[in-house]
Amino acid sequence: MAFQDQTLTCRDCGKGFVWTASEQEFYQQKGFQNAPVRCPADRAAKKARMDGGGRQRELHEITCANCGRKDSVPFQPRGDKPVLCGDCFRKQRDGELKVEEKHDSVEEEEIKESPEPSEEKAPEEKTEESEEK
Ligand SMILES: [Zn+2]
Ligand SMILES: [Zn+2]
Repeated sequence: MAFQDQTLTCRDCGKGFVWTASEQEFYQQKGFQNAPVRCPADRAAKKARMDGGGRQRELHEITCANCGRKDSVPFQPRGDKPVLCGDCFRKQRDGELKVEEKHDSVEEEEIKESPEPSEEKAPEEKTEESEEK
């Protein structure tokens, strides 16, 4: 079925606006049941308000396994790993901090949910035995 441009009335500003055929097609593809109630300008304005309104990524509250501070992380913490606050996470990543793993296997799992995009894996620690005199 071909779509035809429709003229709708914006709920916010009361002006008429054109709901184009291609937009209708887009809506149908997305499975939206309802026609837009706002003109594109008001839709953009509303979206901007929503974006600024703090509905960001879902945060999970954690207690840092190192310093005990409460923090939120943008990923779902897994029960079998110590969860760190942002500061400690960075320190650990930079090698300034060693966090005791609960389990023995020291397989280095790559941290997929790192808050910041980290480049590759950290270089493997050199097992240089420092000879002390
Ligand atoms: Zn409007
Ligand atoms: Zn911490």
